[in-house]
Amino acid sequence: MFFGKKKKYGAGLADSLKNEQAKSDIILSSIDDGVVLVDAQGIIQLFNPAAEKITGWLAKDAIGLDHQSVLKFISDKSEPYTPIQNPLNQTLNNKIAARDNDGCLKTHSGKTISVAVSVSPLGEEIGGAVAVLRDVSEERREEKQSAEFISTASHEMRTPVAAIEGYLALALNDKVATIDARAKDYLVKAHLSTVHLGNLFQDLLTAAKSEDGRLSNHPVIIEMGDFLQQIANDIRITAEKKGMKLDFLIGGSANSVSADNGNQKVIRPLYYVNADPERLREIVTNLFDNAVKYSEKGKITLGLTGNESVVQFRISDTGQGIPPEDVPHLFQKFYRVDNSATRIIGGTGLGLFICRKIVELYNGRIWVESKLGQCSTFYINLPRLSNSAVASLAVQQAATINPVSTNRGPAGSVLQ
Ligand code: ADP
Repeated sequence: MFFGKKKKYGAGLADSLKNEQAKSDIILSSIDDGVVLVDAQGIIQLFNPAAEKITGWLAKDAIGLDHQSVLKFISDKSEPYTPIQNPLNQTLNNKIAARDNDGCLKTHSGKTISVAVSVSPLGEEIGGAVAVLRDVSEERREEKQSAEFISTASHEMRTPVAAIEGYLALALNDKVATIDARAKDYLVKAHLSTVHLGNLFQDLLTAAKSEDGRLSNHPVIIEMGDFLQQIANDIRITAEKKGMKLDFLIGGSANSVSADNGNQKVIRPLYYVNADPERLREIVTNLFDNAVKYSEKGKITLGLTGNESVVQFRISDTGQGIPPEDVPHLFQKFYRVDNSATRIIGGTGLGLFICRKIVELYNGRIWVESKLGQCSTFYINLPRLSNSAVASLAVQQAATINPVSTNRGPAGSVLQ
């Protein structure tokens, strides 16, 4: 919250502060943040001058109205918030604090401004909530400009880097070029660094696109069991090269079905989601690469389970683990745990940020549970498609795209 002095109160200030009412009036009219107090029925009871400035509503008009007729939240794509999405309703209904840093507000004159809002409940006895609003239009504009710059720069730089990488690969190919051992050693190092640089530009580009909504997204119906099995087959070799094992389990721990049992026939549930396979593959490979990178030995487990509404997949490792103080920051852009191990292991700190952005694109959730020095498990929850939703979506998608792994009906189980 920002407290900026707007007026000079001079010698009169001490007198005014004698009275609690005057004290809060001074604070409320001095801060830059809009403060809106609503009662348990959602009726506005207090509207400070900054709220007037941000929304264009006068306090005298706003007070006494339902908050939804005054604070009209809309998404950055100009879609009005549903009552459930509205952070004030969330606090009033669930009596918990709510925060939204990505939305916009339609002002009294119909202008759209970017806002950050945090809402706190006022306690059981009083009921109601207090919302603090901040106009973040300038910050969002700057963020957008910087994302555009990063995106253009990384796009432009990827092309020459790819060319350098290609020529270095040619120089290292004994069928094409002859070089002495010392030069080869230098070129191998140069090639590795160029590959790293290429990955960095690719990650920067993906991160920038995920921030401004330009990440390509062609959702189709995916049966996660088959999908993860295919990926597991592709990535297993990378784990084995490091002397690690990769297990793929479907179901809860008690009745897990090992998905690697060759010709054996097993019955398992089908877990359908609606997502872009490329994007999901990006998440799984990012998490898997980290599991390999940050583990010295042991095994990696790819797991799949779910309930009626959620499909959950997880990637566990028996690696170095993550310090508890780093866990809350892990999915932020460029965040890397700073210790001697990670300083040696290369990385950009963008992988988990990209994973979070993709998961959010599908209204999912990603989080990690870890024991330092022992293990880490990254969980992803995605909304599960019901059988009826699969059937109707399949009809819609059939005209344009062939759904992945939908060569059978959306029954509850399958014989493999
Ligand atoms: P990068 O691996 O490129 O540094 P990420 O965004 O993928 O970036 O990961 C961020 C940080 O999270 C890593 O630098 C590492 O410190 C930590 N981390 C991620 N996955 C694991 C894991 N499986 N085990 C231990 N630490 C991890």
